[in-house]
Amino acid sequence: MRKKHLITCPYCSVGCRMYVETEDGYPVGIEYVDDIPGIPNPGGKLCPKGNVAFQYATSEDRLTKPLKKVAPGKFQEISWQEAMDEIASRMNEIKGKYGPEALAFLGSEKCSVEDNYLIQKLARAMGSNNVEFAGRLCQSSNVVARTKILGSAPQTNPSSDILKADVVVLWGYNPAATNPVLFGQYVEKAILDNGAQFIAVDAIKTQSAKYADVFLQPYPGTDLAIISAMINYVIKNDLYDKDFVDKHVNGFDELAKSVEAYSLKWAEKISGVSADLIEEAARTFAKGERVAVLANEGLNQHVNGTAAMMALTDLVLITGNIGKEGVMSGAIPGAFNGMGASLMGVNCAQLPGAIPVANGEGRRQIERAWGFEIPDKPGLHYVAMFGAAYEGSVKAFYIMGQNPARALPDSAFVEKALEKAEFIVAQDIFPTETTKYADIILPAAAWHERAGTAISSNRRIQWSFKAADAAGEAKPDWEILAGVAKALGLGKHFYYSSIDDVLSEVNKVVPALKGATPQRLRGELKGCMFPCSDEKSETPRLFLKGFPTPDGKANLISPKYAPPGEVPDDEYPFWLSNFRLVGQFHTGTMSFKSKSLADRWTEGFAYINEQDARKLGVNDGDSVKVETRRSALTVKVEVIPYIKRGVISMPWHWGFNFLTKDAVDDLSKIPGYKTAACKISKVRG
Ligand code: SF4
Repeated sequence: MRKKHLITCPYCSVGCRMYVETEDGYPVGIEYVDDIPGIPNPGGKLCPKGNVAFQYATSEDRLTKPLKKVAPGKFQEISWQEAMDEIASRMNEIKGKYGPEALAFLGSEKCSVEDNYLIQKLARAMGSNNVEFAGRLCQSSNVVARTKILGSAPQTNPSSDILKADVVVLWGYNPAATNPVLFGQYVEKAILDNGAQFIAVDAIKTQSAKYADVFLQPYPGTDLAIISAMINYVIKNDLYDKDFVDKHVNGFDELAKSVEAYSLKWAEKISGVSADLIEEAARTFAKGERVAVLANEGLNQHVNGTAAMMALTDLVLITGNIGKEGVMSGAIPGAFNGMGASLMGVNCAQLPGAIPVANGEGRRQIERAWGFEIPDKPGLHYVAMFGAAYEGSVKAFYIMGQNPARALPDSAFVEKALEKAEFIVAQDIFPTETTKYADIILPAAAWHERAGTAISSNRRIQWSFKAADAAGEAKPDWEILAGVAKALGLGKHFYYSSIDDVLSEVNKVVPALKGATPQRLRGELKGCMFPCSDEKSETPRLFLKGFPTPDGKANLISPKYAPPGEVPDDEYPFWLSNFRLVGQFHTGTMSFKSKSLADRWTEGFAYINEQDARKLGVNDGDSVKVETRRSALTVKVEVIPYIKRGVISMPWHWGFNFLTKDAVDDLSKIPGYKTAACKISKVRG
């Protein structure tokens, strides 16, 4: 019998809704949703990934039974009971021998709100704040910057407000590839149908940037120089919003003084963008009545990423483009539940509801709800966990839906760290580069094989219904975690008989989600935008009545220029950077298994500028050796005119992180993925 089941797309953070069609319980297709007003993808539009959103889960490579390592690279099937017993005995033994800080946990932006709530609760119940997810690697600089200045980081307005903007800014962001429905439904329409002015900033003139009225093409990670010069120009030329600044902002005079030295010419020298273009961008930005500023990893993923995001937030504030209709700014996570994992406190320094671990009263409130003490010191951030494992202080990992062996910078080092750990549990839907280091592998249900909630970049929490049975003996992540907790002797804190029980506890612990109850979300199929203080309310726009700071005002932070980590020199004269393809996703753990995507987006390559190619004697399709201080690889090049000269860039998905450096931003601990110095030589023959 044919049936259809409503789910949220399991790929990016736009949160598109779709029906999975099943025939006798087996998924056979996707149907568009045109009968639920208010969903993030009006008319049910989907992108190439969304159109085949269930396909990865039907791959024959699925993990279907618990596995135990019996020799290097060799696993044997075991029962769930055996797996639970082994995990409990090894983790308790390691905790007893080395202390709780020897345990590290990874949650996932690819798992539900409930799964992420439980993995961080499990970490803390074991006495460890070493719990992180990949949000650290892509959005943490944005989150830290905006929290410091505004008191809160998420996207401020509904995406539909982009249609009301008269200026749209895409900064280091190519939504045509990473969030295609957002791009097509809102950004393109705002520009093409509504006539919004369009500023784009990127080292590559991407599909998203093709309509730009003002296009800036800086060297990777030099954006901070451009923004600082724009702030200076806007202030010097009286283009800022005096009324807004007087009423809502602290620190303006200090900001004005701090940017005095940052001239347009100075920024030109650092970024490689002409002073005239920077001036045009500053004027266009400042003259907008309603500016939508969408910034992402091109700006974030640098060791100066937090400083750049702080400067951009300053610019948004002094031009008064926040706290009203028709504007937008804020963190845009990559994956479909990055926002949910973040809000659930899968963070070494934050508890659910973004409560800092060090906030005594906030921590005690959660302790009262949970019935156990939470360690009061922040744990290790994502990158530091692997350094600690290599050094020997972290001994065990519990990894849910993460692939650090491919996703982290200097990944050869990460693999050595994983080899050194005494015990690793990996919970996933497929074998990955990381699961091969696991002692126990637990098979998880795919997204449409279980019910649960996810939160889109737009703060919208939506319920997904179970569409099909899980492969083999795979189970929903929340159920596995509750079972592990019981095996570890923590059952009284993890007494859940359904996913509703978990979300109901979240409703009590996280005030912003109080009204997002299972009963509401099952009925209100477009979901609701947090904060929602009761079952009737939601908050489409933030900061309409000021900022969540002690005096209700935003606090500008003066920029101080810092370079973006490793920059080219005589020995390594090129900038190595990365980008995303529309038909692949992250390290490919799902999209490589989706036949339609894998057949079309088949292998890694590198973009190189045509003038650089000519100089190197390289033609389209030739192979080059790309070498950094860490390692080297051979890759085919695509010679194009629209990448900045001196930059070579590869799609992220095929794993070249053994070339990148593990340096992190001081404030946010985000790795500087987007800049490494490299040399390039033609491979002959
Ligand atoms: Fe899925 Fe994102 Fe594509 Fe929408 S835009 S269908 S959420 S991948």
